[in-house]
Amino acid sequence: MGSRIAGMRSLRSASSNSLTSHENPRDRAGQVPADFPPPVDPRQEFIKRSLDTEDRVDVGVAIVGGGTAGLACANRLMQLLADDPETSERLGDVPVAVIEKARSCGGHSLSGALMQPGPLSELFPELSREHWRQQGFAFGEVKKEAVYALPSRRTKVRLPVPGIQRNHGNEVVAVSSLGRYLQRRAEEAGALVLTETAATQLIVEGDAVRGVRSGDKGRDKDGEPRGNFEPGTDIAAMATVLADGCWGHLTDAAVCEFDLAEGREPRVWELGVKELWRVQRPLDRVIHTVAGWPLRIRSRYHQIGGSWLYPMKDEKSGENLVSIGFVLDLDYADATTSAHDLLQLLKTHPMVRKILQGGERLGWGAKAIPAGGFWAMPKLSVPGAVIAGDSAGMVNLAALKGIHYALKSGVLAADAIYASLQRGDNDFSAYDQAVTDSIIARDLYRQRNTRQPFQQGLLRGGPLVGLMLLTGGRLPGGRWKLHPNDAQPMFLGSTRDSYPTPDGKYIFDKLSSVFLSGNATREDSPNHIRIQTRVPREVAETWAWMCPAGVYEVPADAPEHGDVDLIVNYTNCVQCGATSAKGGRLTPPEGGNGPAYHRI
Ligand SMILES: Cc1cc2nc3c(=O)[nH]c(=O)nc-3n(C[C@H](O)[C@H](O)[C@H](O)COP(=O)(O)OP(=O)(O)OC[C@H]3O[C@@H](n4cnc5c(N)ncnc54)[C@H](O)[C@@H]3O)c2cc1C
Ligand code: SF4
Repeated sequence: MGSRIAGMRSLRSASSNSLTSHENPRDRAGQVPADFPPPVDPRQEFIKRSLDTEDRVDVGVAIVGGGTAGLACANRLMQLLADDPETSERLGDVPVAVIEKARSCGGHSLSGALMQPGPLSELFPELSREHWRQQGFAFGEVKKEAVYALPSRRTKVRLPVPGIQRNHGNEVVAVSSLGRYLQRRAEEAGALVLTETAATQLIVEGDAVRGVRSGDKGRDKDGEPRGNFEPGTDIAAMATVLADGCWGHLTDAAVCEFDLAEGREPRVWELGVKELWRVQRPLDRVIHTVAGWPLRIRSRYHQIGGSWLYPMKDEKSGENLVSIGFVLDLDYADATTSAHDLLQLLKTHPMVRKILQGGERLGWGAKAIPAGGFWAMPKLSVPGAVIAGDSAGMVNLAALKGIHYALKSGVLAADAIYASLQRGDNDFSAYDQAVTDSIIARDLYRQRNTRQPFQQGLLRGGPLVGLMLLTGGRLPGGRWKLHPNDAQPMFLGSTRDSYPTPDGKYIFDKLSSVFLSGNATREDSPNHIRIQTRVPREVAETWAWMCPAGVYEVPADAPEHGDVDLIVNYTNCVQCGATSAKGGRLTPPEGGNGPAYHRI
């Protein structure tokens, strides 16, 4: 790594740089979701203080999360152990276990997605990109691309492709399918993959993580055991990998317990809503739109986001597919902002409609993206555990890239854990250094301040972001502060007036979309959403419009002003995580609940 990166020191010590401040969002008028915090005490509820001595499962390495980060870690560990029977034997009958709450790995993973191919090729050097495509998770190399600004609902202006958004040579992939492929590979190599299993508590004894506890299954909505009740189990591990994705339930518990975010910026998020379309004519290029319509970029509305359209040729089925999605910064101020409805509105633009004309919507999903970048990453290891992928905030939002960092961090975690287990200790701090020395920290450091100026609005912050991107973060330099998304005061604006009426052909409502996600949350399962239900109308409307799955409802007879009683239809939840960003808390539902994303 070059001297510039060596100069940034470790992720931890970099926090002592000077702070560049900006306006306090609370100076604006409106109701602040953070003033109505969810009834949750992570250290009390999500940390278990001792391992059960009986009725427990012992494994070598427990990996929470069967997304790309967790499965890269599992596959790499199995590669290392294949050549080392002695260490493998020391890890016991189950050297590596992956704990995944979806019905199959990838079922809860969603992405755009354009993937930088390097880390996947390094993990499986024997596989060609042609093989990836035959396996059904890759859909072609990017050869042509275009970026547009949309000044209005009918116009477009082509822009030069900024360096950070150049995708030539990257591969179009579906992470849900990549997850299924990586699961198969890990199982073939001998890892145990426990699907339909939610890890609900981190087990901490003294100053070390000792494993995780899986959640109960078969409770009714009042929490009472049903006929098919199965209690959760302690999963004791010599090493625990927290690869639990963007809202990281157990990562958050670890961060609170071990103070891993001390001196860091707060975590912030964006929300992406995506659809998969079968189209009549193949799309010949990757398209991104930035700024402008359909968002309101005035500082009062504070809406920032953009969209993508990616061509996908499915070599197995021969279908011409298009991935289309909209990404919205969750720092917006108009309570009636809805990423789902903005995506529907985008589809009324002539450029987009022409691409989808005569096509059919095959899939839908939504997921939050960590957007805090370098300064918001927590410390990555504690005795007995490491944090990898999205749960550690390893996403370069300026480039909309996280998959190759997730894969890389999974591999680096496996290497560090393997070396420690060979020595017989649980100190995995070599992983922090390995991340600092890798493309993950190098890239994120270059973009370290590119999210913060947007918190001043697009018009004020945009030029600064441009300068930062141009100078690799050197100008204006320093360390820029972030404020949490739930600190933004919310007002009832008019964004909702622009949303189109569903026609069932191109424009869809939230509930038919949730159906398409394959959501199979058991109707009488316990409520997994922690949120205050008597809140000011502005806060209730924020949650109702924000949730892409229509979980929150303001009753029709609720008063126009003052407090209202929120209805929570939690079985609609697709576990996108946005709730945790803007005033509530998503906890893991019963294993097996939630969407079943496919080619998403
Ligand atoms: C809309 C959108 C567009 C994107 N576009 C791109 C792109 O074009 N290119 C790119 O490179 N990146 C993109 N990204 C980012 C990229 O998708 C992520 O960085 C990457 O997929 C993260 O992988 P992960 O394994 O860390 O997390 P995930 O894929 O989220 O995996 C986490 C897994 O953990 C499981 N889990 C969570 N909690 C528990 C628990 N308590 N118990 C059991 N299991 C649990 C989840 O079910 C999930 O399977 C995009 C992301 C989004 C949301
Ligand atoms: S309730 Fe579920 S689907 Fe709705 S915003 Fe929260 S996490 Fe996302």
